[in-house]
Parts: sequence; structure tokens; C-alpha cells
Amino acid sequence: MSNVTLLQPGSSPFPRGNSTKRGTYFVQTWGCQMNEEDSEQMALYLQEMGFAAAKDVREAQVVLLNTCSVRKKPEDKAFSFLGELALLKKGRPDMVIGVAGCMAQVRADEIRKRNPHVDFVVGTAQVSSIPGLVEEALQGKRFQKRLDLPERKGAIVTDIPQRNVERTGKLKAFVPIQYGCDKFCTFCIVPTTRGRERSRPTEHLVEEVRRLAELGTKEITLLGQTVNSYGKNLAEGRVPFSKLLQILGGIPGIERIRYTSPYPRDFKTDLIEIIRDVPEVMEHCHMPLQGGHNDLLKRMKRLYTVESFREILTELRATVPGIGLTTDVIVGFPGETEEEFEGTLAAMREFRFDGAYMFRYSPRPGTPAAEMDQVPVEVSKARLEKLIQIQNAISCEINESLVGEEFEVLVEGPTPKNPGLLQGYSRCFRMIHFAGDVGKLRGETVTVRTTQSHLWGFHGEIV
Ligand code: SF4
Repeated sequence: MSNVTLLQPGSSPFPRGNSTKRGTYFVQTWGCQMNEEDSEQMALYLQEMGFAAAKDVREAQVVLLNTCSVRKKPEDKAFSFLGELALLKKGRPDMVIGVAGCMAQVRADEIRKRNPHVDFVVGTAQVSSIPGLVEEALQGKRFQKRLDLPERKGAIVTDIPQRNVERTGKLKAFVPIQYGCDKFCTFCIVPTTRGRERSRPTEHLVEEVRRLAELGTKEITLLGQTVNSYGKNLAEGRVPFSKLLQILGGIPGIERIRYTSPYPRDFKTDLIEIIRDVPEVMEHCHMPLQGGHNDLLKRMKRLYTVESFREILTELRATVPGIGLTTDVIVGFPGETEEEFEGTLAAMREFRFDGAYMFRYSPRPGTPAAEMDQVPVEVSKARLEKLIQIQNAISCEINESLVGEEFEVLVEGPTPKNPGLLQGYSRCFRMIHFAGDVGKLRGETVTVRTTQSHLWGFHGEIV
């Protein structure tokens, strides 16, 4: 589907509602927001085939596993889940089992060898093949795999299928704007599992976001592996990410735009000014530091230094006062010395992120870092613990200093643990819980004053 017809506002190429009644499906997801989004597309395809969502995997006729390869743990979980499905399928031979996602892309043959009960394996760029694969599996067709990654022919993007956004009543939606990655950080398997960087045509994004807004979406999160390098390889010519934000911010009904994750080196002044100037673009940025010592960054093949990273944060904080900043950090990267680790701690103390995702390095077969000298597990575990302690203390201090402040919050609904409390995020991505009437306030923007701080966010009250 390389030539996609543009939608008229209010129209859709996808049928709404189920056509024929069939069995039930279950989609199990591991990994990032891109995977969550892909899983939602898979569920929509199955619904269009007439399948309904199963409450429990044990009753589903079609089971899809959307896997992750970024660390070893989610891969182990997927294999163990497949083991449980083998037992289920013994008693239910008509069950269809498909494996999708990054692990499917790089370990298809091994998946099949270890799990002969799997009906098909489908790669990251082949989600739209799933209805056909399910149909064929139901008709008894033996193991199939669909793993092609689309080619990027010179400067032009080809073969990016249109996405289905017919999902009513969703306040917040993910919108992938770019697939794959051209950066090749030495620890990362993504360029292999998702292929080279491809941006979705701007007009497709405009139509999709317009349709989402018509269906009730108020907040979108733009997804990409290096989201701010969007637009480099489009047939219509380069559209910078900052321009895209401006265009999407102008779509009626869209109140909030977030994006994740940017690549630090490509974070330039034009983008920082758009965050300041376009009201729909939220004052939050998730800026992955990964390591806080230049030798470490060099071995990771991250194309920036601690100094250039500092300059970006300084400009961001000066141009957009109060901006929320979060990050990703890896500890125990191959060859990480005590001095390099101390560099990371020093950077975290200096940069004072509001929050951080902190990980122990996990070797990914097929990446350059997996071949480097590994840090002993007990050392990387101790380092991670130390980093978490330091960052948690910083997050608590920052949150404490914000008690009594007022924040604009988009009300998402009741908190999962206490249905009597509502929750939502501030513009700068701070989670706040507060009392209110869910029937009246869901989807509304309210001003909340924080009354109590926690590591995860705040309790507050509507002003
Ligand atoms: S920028 Fe680096 S870490 Fe991020 S997806 Fe690309 S290769 Fe992986």
C-alpha cells in the first residue's frame, strides 16, 4: 500500500464495528510505546475480522505475542509465555498463535524451532499482514513468516501502510511518525529489528490526527526512535520536526502534543522555540542521556558529549522556564570504569532531571557492545542501586519544592487504585491525583494546586 488515498475529514477507509462474529483474541505486549501502538493496530485488525477481545488468554482463539528485544528479560518472558501456550494448545488445537515484534524480527527461526506450536511469525513492519496470516492459519496453513523490512529507496520513503485510527473516545493517542533508526548506538538492536529510519508522509499524519480529534482525542504523543529527526526522507521534501509540531498543533480539537524520544544531538534552537511558542506543545522533554562521561558516550556511539548535552538543557531551561525533563540512563555498559560511572552520577546530580528510567546494561546478541568487555553483574547491580538512590532523592526534592504550585491538568479519569480520586498529567508531565466528579471532569482541563508530594508525583486539589 504505497499510494495511500487521503481521507476526507469524517471519512475512513476502515470499516467501523465488527463485520462477522467469530471467536476471541488476546494480544500480549512487551516493550515500548511503539509496541503498545502496534498491539492496538493488531487488536483493531482482529476486531475488523469479527473477533472480540478475550478477558483471559485461556479462552482466546487467536493469541498474538508482541515481543521486545531491547533487553533480555522481555525475551525470556516471551519464551516462557510461549511454553504456557504450548500446554493450552494441546487441549485446544484450533488455537492460532502468532509472534510479532522485535524478537520475532531477529529470532524467527529460533522461535519456530523451540515452539513448533507457533503458527506464524511476523516482523515489525508487517503488522498489516496479520489478518491474512490469521485467516490462513485458521484454514490450517502451516508455519509462515513475514519479516520484510521496507526499503528506503534513496531519499524517498516507500511502503508505509496507512494506519487504522477508528477508536472512539480515546482521550490520549500515540501517533508513530517515524519508524526505524539510522543512529546505530553500539548497545541497541533497534536498527536491526526495525530497519532504517523512515518518516511517515506529513499529509498522512495530518489526516490521522484530524480523524483522532474528530473521535475525541485531545492529547497525542508522537512516537519515533529519534523523533526529532523526523522528515528527512520524504517524497515531498524535508519537513523538520519543529514544523510538523506547528502543523499538528493547528488541528482543531488537539489540545496537547507530546513526543518521545528525541535524539540529543539533533535537538536544535528551532525546536526549542516551537516548544515555547506553540501552546499545544507540552513543556516536557524526555532527553535520553544514557551515560555521563564522554569516553562512555563514545563507546556507546552516542553522537554528543556531556558538554553539548549540557548546552541543550541550559537552552531548554532558559527558553521554556519550568519545563519538565526526564531521561534514560544505562549503567554497567561494557568497560564502564569507576571514573566513568562517577561521571554519570555527577551528570545526574548536575542536570537534576525530574525523573529517569535507569537500567542495567543487557547485552544484545548482534550488537557491537555485546562483544566488548562486560562489567561483572554484581558491580552493575550495585551501581544501579546507587544511581537509583541518588535520582530518587533528586526527584523527591524537586517535587517537594513544587508543593503549593498550580498546574493545568488534563483529567484522564479515576486512579487505578482508588476510584474515588481522579488523575491526570500537568503540561510538564507531572502526575497529580485529586478529588472530583469523574462524570463531569473526564477530558476536561482543570487547574490543580499540589498539596502533597511523592516520588511518583503529587496529591492536589482543584482550584
Ligand atoms: S538512537 Fe540509538 S538507542 Fe535510540 S533507537 Fe537508535 S540506535 Fe537505538
